[in-house]
Amino acid sequence: MSVSMSEPSKPPAQDTRGVAQDINWDDFRDHLATADQYGNRRWLYPKKPSGQWHYRRAWFAAALITIMFAGPWIRIHGNPLLMINILERRFSILGQIFWPQDTVIFAVAMLVFITGIIIFTTAFGRLWCGWACPQTVMMEMVFRKIEYVIEGDAHEQRALDAAPWSARKVLQKSLKQAVFLGLSFIVGNTLLAYIIGSEKLLAIQFDDPRNHLVGLTFMVLFTLLFYAIFARFREQACTFICPYGRFQSAMLDENSMVVAYDHERGEKRASLNREQSHEHRAAAGLGDCVACRQCVAVCPTGIDIRNGTQMECVNCTACIDACDTIMDKVGRPRGLVRFASLNNIERGEHQRFTPRMKLYAGILAALIALFLFLVFTRAEVGITLLRAPGALFQQTAGGKIQNLYTMKLINKTSRDLPVELKLDNVRGTVRLMGAGPFIVPKENLAQTSVLIELDPAVLTGNSTKLKLGVYANDKLLETVTTGFVGPRK
Ligand code: SF4
Ligand code: SF4
Repeated sequence: MSVSMSEPSKPPAQDTRGVAQDINWDDFRDHLATADQYGNRRWLYPKKPSGQWHYRRAWFAAALITIMFAGPWIRIHGNPLLMINILERRFSILGQIFWPQDTVIFAVAMLVFITGIIIFTTAFGRLWCGWACPQTVMMEMVFRKIEYVIEGDAHEQRALDAAPWSARKVLQKSLKQAVFLGLSFIVGNTLLAYIIGSEKLLAIQFDDPRNHLVGLTFMVLFTLLFYAIFARFREQACTFICPYGRFQSAMLDENSMVVAYDHERGEKRASLNREQSHEHRAAAGLGDCVACRQCVAVCPTGIDIRNGTQMECVNCTACIDACDTIMDKVGRPRGLVRFASLNNIERGEHQRFTPRMKLYAGILAALIALFLFLVFTRAEVGITLLRAPGALFQQTAGGKIQNLYTMKLINKTSRDLPVELKLDNVRGTVRLMGAGPFIVPKENLAQTSVLIELDPAVLTGNSTKLKLGVYANDKLLETVTTGFVGPRK
């Protein structure tokens, strides 16, 4: 299926409620809501949402956006709140620096995250997407709102797109695209700060550009990427790119709470006849749905929630607010579209903690316990001690044998460590090269050469296994083993 990325110059005709009229709404199983019967993209004009759910979501989004943009600049013990420095393989989570040597902890943390999402999805559907996913939060709560301010609500946007080019249209479109590009630059820079750290981002921004060509290239690429997503690609990212929507269909069951249309109460749907009382409607076999299509008009993914739970639904709750407003107007109880499970709608059951959820919760609890165990028993230092490449053993004038090593030491603590090495299993001397004590700065990596000298009498063959203790302030932090080569015996 080919999908055109172009905004239609002639949007579909619409009725007085802002609902497009030349679309066959009953063929939703044949193609995506955002594609026409030929596979071309249908540009969406979701109506401006409002209501109690939107109000809650706006506050939640404001908190998330604040954290998201402040994240790289917030320091805990001098470390970023969150940093994923892939280039230097250095990660900071809640101010704790993790190194490549902590891969196991990182892998368990990822498993906790994924299992948490699975449980959450089993219980609450795609709630993450509508409420917490940075793509949706930025799209619906920032970019879309700017679009409403500059171009107006859905029907005004449609009219503007359909209108011939004029000075006003050029001004509105240029202003919108300029603001989108500027915001994309900020979002792109924030992502870059999460990857390389805020200090390096500032260096790219204010230093001589010739020193940061790679950084500047990524800055431009990220800006263009986010501009393409928020200005053009939009809901297609959730439908085509993100695997989570497809993933959720494997996890939802009849007990999952999702944004749902109460078909028991709503069907059979029919337009409202003002002369007809509710009793008359009920007697005629009609439900509470007045077929106003306002739930469809506000949907940012263009679907009709009355067709049931669909992959595209991001649980944004805009349709709940739209339908509640209509129910208030027609004097029927709110909640025709609401958070509900299939069992709740069809059997009136309350939310249940099913065996499947219990199993997932048990796995999650075990993974969290493992994660905490790994974090709290994590060694304070990480050390590699390797024989210097190409170096053979040396024999001193006194007859002792020397081997030269290269030591890399990662200090994972938040204090500087004056490091010493001591032989554990044989007598001999260990010298760390360089002037003065070998001090490894906090949360940093240092490298030095190490000279180990042994009496030939303690050697057990061509290669003798050595065990060394890593000490700081006379406290044993870690032990390391290495081989010591000597003359053939
Ligand atoms: S169906 Fe409702 S909850 Fe789902 S995406 Fe559309 S408006 Fe949001
Ligand atoms: S907003 Fe409510 S009443 Fe109107 S079409 Fe949707 S479900 Fe029916």
